[in-house]
Amino acid sequence: MAGAVERGGAMIVRMSPAADDRQREQIVHLLRERGYDVLALAGGGQPVIGLNGKPIEEDLPAWLSRQPGVEQVVKPGPAYTLAAREVRPAGTVVRVGQVTFGAGDPVVIAGPCAVEDRDQLLRTAEAVRQAGASMLRGGAFKPRTSPYSFQGLGEIGLELLAEAREATGLPVVTEVLDTEQVEVVAHYADMLQIGSRNMMNFALLRRVAATGKPVLLKRGFAATVDEWLLSAEYLLAGGNDQVVLCERGVRGFDTATRFTLDLNAVPLVRQLSHLPVIVDPSHGTGRRELVPPMSLAAIAAGAHGLIIEVHPEPERALVDGRQTITPETLADLVRRVRALTAVTADVLTGI
Ligand code: PEP
Ligand code: MN
Repeated sequence: MAGAVERGGAMIVRMSPAADDRQREQIVHLLRERGYDVLALAGGGQPVIGLNGKPIEEDLPAWLSRQPGVEQVVKPGPAYTLAAREVRPAGTVVRVGQVTFGAGDPVVIAGPCAVEDRDQLLRTAEAVRQAGASMLRGGAFKPRTSPYSFQGLGEIGLELLAEAREATGLPVVTEVLDTEQVEVVAHYADMLQIGSRNMMNFALLRRVAATGKPVLLKRGFAATVDEWLLSAEYLLAGGNDQVVLCERGVRGFDTATRFTLDLNAVPLVRQLSHLPVIVDPSHGTGRRELVPPMSLAAIAAGAHGLIIEVHPEPERALVDGRQTITPETLADLVRRVRALTAVTADVLTGI
């Protein structure tokens, strides 16, 4: 196309902190007049506008920079745009009830791999609360490698999670496997988890974005960091910026551990993206004795939190018992995380 930059895609117009709503609306209006699709992203930090749908005309960045209220026009990254750190240099804070990811102390999410029954869930929920966790996890719909394995309690599991939230005050995160389940899971959960096996289920990402609920986006176990951030881009482009990334291990050549926890990814995505990132040392290692040391390593690498599988009797857990710790181990781990955070908070500044 004549007069157009070859690469199509998106760009970001960063408004100055002093810009008012009228100036922002004027930019949206001018861009639409020139035939661009405009995404006006709401939420904390400065207002941001992402464009896509047609190649960016050559004169556009300079023209936009001259408009009142515009601070900077950011060129598209190689792949993701709205997920790029430049969009919100100070970082995004994701809120789930009283819990904040990306500000303050690391968040500890804990609970069973799967909701098994009422007694198991309520006992575990109370125990993880007492151990110092600030959110409850638990799968109601389970993505199992074998169709003959326990698939989860489904909606009954969701009801039990809601009851556990009532009893403990802990917000709940649970996985949504399928576009057809989005509505019911969003009805019960405080945060929706996209599992590793679904990271590239783009229809699911779009539907989950549309709920407006906070999202925990796990990294596909064979996904590159760029692919992971592009999946986050689907959520952001869908108008939902309440996204927390979760590193949960990738598949390598070594079968000594279930997966290889890629802690490189933590400081890397903190540099590349404004989204908070947490770590799952349970799936990342597959061995309960590795969960405490790798949790501490994750915090030292700059993780904004942890998600940990806990069961009162790990040997009896229906799913993932080998990587599950007891509430007592969790309590000890939370104490260590707090002690480490007291040191890393200063040491990690600027990294
Ligand atoms: C889980 O957290 O319950 C889970 C299934 O994890 P992943 O999608 O990372 O395998
Ligand atoms: Mn599990």
